Amino acid sequence: MFLPEAQSLKPAACVTRRSRKHPVATVTNTDFGQLWFDIFSTNRGGWNTMPFDAQLVESVKGFLDPEEGQRLYDVALVASKIGPCLEIGSYCGKSTIYIGTACKENGAVLFSIDHHRGSEEQQPGQEYFDPELFDEGTGRINTLPFLLRSIEKAELQDTVVPIVCKSALAARQWATPLGLVFIDGGHSYEDAFTDYNAWAPHLVPGGYLLIHDIFEDPKKGGQAPFQVYKLALASGLFQEQPRTKTLGVLRRRFF
Ligand code: MG
Repeated sequence: MFLPEAQSLKPAACVTRRSRKHPVATVTNTDFGQLWFDIFSTNRGGWNTMPFDAQLVESVKGFLDPEEGQRLYDVALVASKIGPCLEIGSYCGKSTIYIGTACKENGAVLFSIDHHRGSEEQQPGQEYFDPELFDEGTGRINTLPFLLRSIEKAELQDTVVPIVCKSALAARQWATPLGLVFIDGGHSYEDAFTDYNAWAPHLVPGGYLLIHDIFEDPKKGGQAPFQVYKLALASGLFQEQPRTKTLGVLRRRFF
């Protein structure tokens, strides 16, 4: 377990308790509010048992690795206690199920934004084009029916709020502080930076900024998400947490 600030604390300074159903630690010494967040924000490698069918989530189209999904769930389980969660790039709902299920456990809400027209690389003739997502009637990609089906199958109708538009439009009048922002929308520099600039400022102190598709090696993937990740770190506003594969995890500092 990675405990950045907690490492400097004496073990006897706090007492933890876990239940079988919800294996979470309870810090009994109220002086360590920061420690509380540290404990819950770490990559616990499957500590939490996700309360849904793994086959269901695997059947949903998407590009999220199961370990990354588990991490999304773990972080969202913490973050959704401090504010609503928001993702950019719903696609067909794979990440929506991971984050949404954690939100449901806490009675929280997940806002899920996507224009549902597919990103550049998902258009006809491009590398990630999927003919099943092509709507013959409109002659365009349409992933919204797939998202709605995923939400229904995972029984998240009372947890997830789908928002169908570009993320910058949704952000224009947004005024709700957020506990978690997951950026997994368009992978162009313009899209990635727009999503960061539009949504990162809405994170509460202690909230989480997650960015998917972090590739330090340009040969392995596009660089826009990694550049945004580095920009966020350079701002000094975020504390770096352990990554899970290509999922970057940053936490908004308390100052
Ligand atoms: Mg992605």
